[in-house]
Amino acid sequence: MKNEETIILGAGLAGLSAAYHLKKGYALFEKDGEIGGMARSVHKDGYTFDYDGHLLHFRNEYTFNLVSELLNGNLAPHKRNSWVYSKGIFTRYPFQANFYGLPNSVVKDCLMGLIKARVLSASHLNSNGSFESWIIKTFGEGVANHFMKPYNKKFWTVDLRELTCEWLDGFVPVPDLEDTVTGAISDNTKPYGYNSRFWYPVKGGISELVKGFSGKIRSAHVNKKAVTIDQRRKEVVFEDATIKKFKNMITTIPLPELSGLLVDMPSEVQQAFSMLRWTSIYVLNIGIKSDNLTERHWVYYPEENVIFYRVGFPTSFSTDAAPENRISIYAEIAYSDVKKIDKFEALPKAISDLKTCGIISEESEVEICLPMDIKYGYAIYDSNRRHAVQIIKNYLERFEIYTIGRYGSWKYMSMEDVILEGRALAEKMNSCNKYKVEAKA
Ligand SMILES: Cc1cc2nc3c(=O)[nH]c(=O)nc-3n(C[C@H](O)[C@H](O)[C@H](O)COP(=O)(O)OP(=O)(O)OC[C@H]3O[C@@H](n4cnc5c(N)ncnc54)[C@H](O)[C@@H]3O)c2cc1C
Repeated sequence: MKNEETIILGAGLAGLSAAYHLKKGYALFEKDGEIGGMARSVHKDGYTFDYDGHLLHFRNEYTFNLVSELLNGNLAPHKRNSWVYSKGIFTRYPFQANFYGLPNSVVKDCLMGLIKARVLSASHLNSNGSFESWIIKTFGEGVANHFMKPYNKKFWTVDLRELTCEWLDGFVPVPDLEDTVTGAISDNTKPYGYNSRFWYPVKGGISELVKGFSGKIRSAHVNKKAVTIDQRRKEVVFEDATIKKFKNMITTIPLPELSGLLVDMPSEVQQAFSMLRWTSIYVLNIGIKSDNLTERHWVYYPEENVIFYRVGFPTSFSTDAAPENRISIYAEIAYSDVKKIDKFEALPKAISDLKTCGIISEESEVEICLPMDIKYGYAIYDSNRRHAVQIIKNYLERFEIYTIGRYGSWKYMSMEDVILEGRALAEKMNSCNKYKVEAKA
């Protein structure tokens, strides 16, 4: 490798996309033995498990065309079939448009809360900009108490008053009042939200997309963990003691890890790094001997007594995900520094909850369980996040170091989002002699 070229750290989808779109020379380094980051799949005993369900949603035609080309026909569309399980019954997702079948007292609470919030006195409700106040102002007390608050507390693990609304961006559907009333008195199958349709590889799991990228870029150097980045000398040191000089760097390393790699940072930047908070996800990938294939894609669990917040069924979006007469399940459990979990107890509790909630039967035989511990799951959007990320990005850009990706931008980003971010940065670099690119938090 020549010195002084563009170095990309991390071969997840953000790094792969940057490499794919860069027209100038680059070298791509990945700490693990294989590329793909969060978009990898594990193949074991005939099962294919992603690092948690990884479904493709497209808001942008460019990404749809690119992904279709990279997957070369190995891509199928699906109409979302997702549910909420509460009060002992399944209701359609999203909860806020589907009270049908819930106990009458719950339906009444939810409808009255919504009417008060929307029609009678929306203006009297205080909004202090927190996610919790947005929930109450938008959906009223009934939906807040019966679903939104318990579910989101379980998912984000922190007090919802600490969260801003910056991450919402269409993630939480807001149905109109008429639709909500329809969904209270009948089965409402109207699609809502950004993920009402999704796409998934027919075979091989989400890592097929990574394979598609790898065929189109210069090969990545794997088992190359960056351990020090001297931003002033423009040098990166790897775990194997090799040193590379760079002119520009694109890093997709999670920001809390990056902070330990940089040298001699000003205290303001160190402080910005120390403000970042996150939730972790413990995923139990489970294979079960059963021919009881559900049509449901995934189910949300708001109630505190159930250990997981969501359960998905890979065999419902790809029959190739498990051997014949088997189903596969992923159960997602959130934890953080304020909500600890006991990982040894998680599996038996999850299996017991899957039985109680009617997902598997008492007789079901668990054939395989692959736990995956995702340390950086979701950036916590508290009031410090935006400013802290801006300080970090601005500082790094002085050295022509650009931090991108879900954990490099410290944002709630989908696969499509990080592919687009990698592309946008590469295109700016392609069009500049001196790669000076404006930072966005
Ligand atoms: C639980 C969960 C579920 C998700 N579900 C979906 C979904 O259904 N649909 C969807 O679109 N998106 C989903 N996502 C988001 C999606 O996974 C990400 O947006 C995307 O994969 C992130 O890509 P990335 O390249 O930014 O980060 P990563 O995939 O994390 O890539 C970063 C890479 O950097 C490498 N690295 C780290 N440190 C070093 C180092 N020191 N030196 C060298 N390399 C290093 C890592 O090994 C990794 O390969 C989900 C995310 C989570 C957490």
